[in-house]
Amino acid sequence: MRARVNNRVMKSDTPPLEPRDRVVIVGAGIAGLATALRLAHAGLAVTVLERHAGPGGKMRALPSEAGPVDAGPTVLTMRGVFDALFASVGARLEDHIDLVPQDILARHFWPDGSHLDLFADEAQSRAAIHGFAGDRAARQFTRFCARARRLFTAFDSPMMQAAAPSSLALAATVARQPTLIRAMAPLSTLAQSLSRQFDDPRLRQLFGRYATYVGGSPYQSPALLSLIWQAEAAGVWVVRGGMHRLAQSLATLASAHGAQFHYGTHVARIETEGPQVRGVTLGDGTRLAADFIVFNGDPRALASGLLGPAATAVAPPDNETAAQPLGAGLGLCRHALRSRPGTSQRIFRRRCPQRIRRSARRALPTRPHSLCLRSGSRPTRTAAPPRAVRDHSQRATA
Ligand SMILES: Cc1cc2nc3c(=O)[nH]c(=O)nc-3n(C[C@H](O)[C@H](O)[C@H](O)COP(=O)(O)OP(=O)(O)OC[C@H]3O[C@@H](n4cnc5c(N)ncnc54)[C@H](O)[C@@H]3O)c2cc1C
Repeated sequence: MRARVNNRVMKSDTPPLEPRDRVVIVGAGIAGLATALRLAHAGLAVTVLERHAGPGGKMRALPSEAGPVDAGPTVLTMRGVFDALFASVGARLEDHIDLVPQDILARHFWPDGSHLDLFADEAQSRAAIHGFAGDRAARQFTRFCARARRLFTAFDSPMMQAAAPSSLALAATVARQPTLIRAMAPLSTLAQSLSRQFDDPRLRQLFGRYATYVGGSPYQSPALLSLIWQAEAAGVWVVRGGMHRLAQSLATLASAHGAQFHYGTHVARIETEGPQVRGVTLGDGTRLAADFIVFNGDPRALASGLLGPAATAVAPPDNETAAQPLGAGLGLCRHALRSRPGTSQRIFRRRCPQRIRRSARRALPTRPHSLCLRSGSRPTRTAAPPRAVRDHSQRATA
């Protein structure tokens, strides 16, 4: 999985950073942790301030009788991003967390009783779609995969892996490969593009959901987002013990490289002097000096002045689309009980595009248009869990 790049660096001196520069990172979400690891490894004096009791941000775990349960992301995609991050500090991802590749990427259920599994193996997915919606749909799927793969390959390095992706990089990529324009369908939304690529409305709905991975709506997001399918098709891993183990391992590794972590520490204000940052003021009034500050929180907190008026200058414009809520509507949980451990379950409602469009325009939450369930990986507790959970964990070992 690739963390969203929402950090903003306020600098008080001319780059590049020098060893022993004091860097304060506000937030121990996955982006803050990755930054802490890289900067600590580069020899900077890194202090991470996190208001919650532990690392992870959205990638956090909630306690349960069966052991910690992931409250945010539950599977890892684009594993290569983390392989590269660990390798950049001379470590190996697999030495820090236990990754289990998933042969089933996700299971999908519709109100009419139909269901479809998609697999890591494209040929298996194609066969499943053939059985689900016929030969024409299977051929459409093959074409869709080729197109998504092409877009992914073209934009992976210049946009997705870039530290600061820009319209210029996008334009340069297209200028080098003008035939990409057709695959990008620049004048179409994802929903419009999918309606041309698939006859079956269920498949349009299924592949449209990838817009929600970046908080968008298929009715507003560009058709280019179909490339997210390729990120998932390239492989999905479950982290044994839960995704929060990844956050913990990054925090442990960053600490080993000298980063200092302070949990339960709220940053109330970013202090500046003219154009230069001077440090932060904590919720209890303590002041901490810094040469550089990396803000890992919501950019809108900066924009709205929650961290003081000076910080508003570095905040990006607030043009993000409203996220689609994923939860609620639990009558369908029985599907999860039949599930394979760790497999993603996606249950679709009947399509309600008008309502989704209306809500997205007004930045309101919609009623969920699909429901995502995931049965966790095997609980890590040694004591016997309650019966329902024990049944589940037994399946995990099968
Ligand atoms: C249910 C769910 C499922 C998801 N599934 C996936 C998925 O499958 N794949 C994927 O790629 N992404 C997924 N995501 C999105 C992914 O989890 C997030 O994009 C990612 O974790 C965000 O990381 P971050 O570091 O940018 O921000 P965050 O995780 O939000 O971290 C920000 C941190 O900053 C701290 N902070 C903020 N302000 C302050 C302050 N003033 N003082 C101190 N601390 C502060 C916060 O407490 C928080 O810990 C999912 C998200 C959710 C909620």
